[in-house]
Amino acid sequence: MKLNERGLLVVMSGPSGVGKGTIRKALFRIPDNNFTYSVSMTTRKPRPGEVDGVDYFFVSRSEFEANIRAGRLLEYAEFVGEYYGTPLSFIEQKLSEGKEVIIEIEVQGALQVREKMPDAVFVFIVPPSKKALEERLISRGTEDAKIIQQRLEKAEREYNLAYKYDYIVVNDDVGNAADRIYAIIRAEHAKTERSIQKYTKLMEGKE
Ligand code: 5GP
Repeated sequence: MKLNERGLLVVMSGPSGVGKGTIRKALFRIPDNNFTYSVSMTTRKPRPGEVDGVDYFFVSRSEFEANIRAGRLLEYAEFVGEYYGTPLSFIEQKLSEGKEVIIEIEVQGALQVREKMPDAVFVFIVPPSKKALEERLISRGTEDAKIIQQRLEKAEREYNLAYKYDYIVVNDDVGNAADRIYAIIRAEHAKTERSIQKYTKLMEGKE
């Protein structure tokens, strides 16, 4: 018996350096998961080791703006001087195939998704402490001091919008954080408003 056919869109946000990418990788290691990651488009330069089409679609500003004009992005935002956006068609296709689609985006973009896809689930990831976040950003060593400072200031503003999310998950330990998000996804599928119509049909013998 399969009650939910359409997949769930899971929007993950949280300050830069909080470990969203690591949590996502832990989620994908959960056996028999049905997750798909939506690769974003950005104008920022690749970090060492990042691969085009895997970590991001790295594009020029003019290419990005052409995608905006063509309506090919579900949402987009500027973050510390660079554009970031979510390609729309991939998400639509995967959700209709019944996949759980995970997107990792900053707060302004998440608020746009809230407007356009209100049945998505919004999870805000926080560090165990402010100090832990600073240390992570510095030890990652991928940004220079000025950018780190800008990202920390941005983190302060992002915390102020955390109340707009459905769930807050502390990244005290990557495995724990991934487990909590997995539990959230399972619980969301069981929510009455997501499953009542389908269930009613089943009980009436129509499916
Ligand atoms: P980073 O440069 O560290 O990879 O990403 C910077 C910020 O942009 C992070 O908060 C990340 O979640 C966010 N981001 C990544 N992709 C997207 C996207 O498609 N849209 C929006 N709005 N933010 C994104």
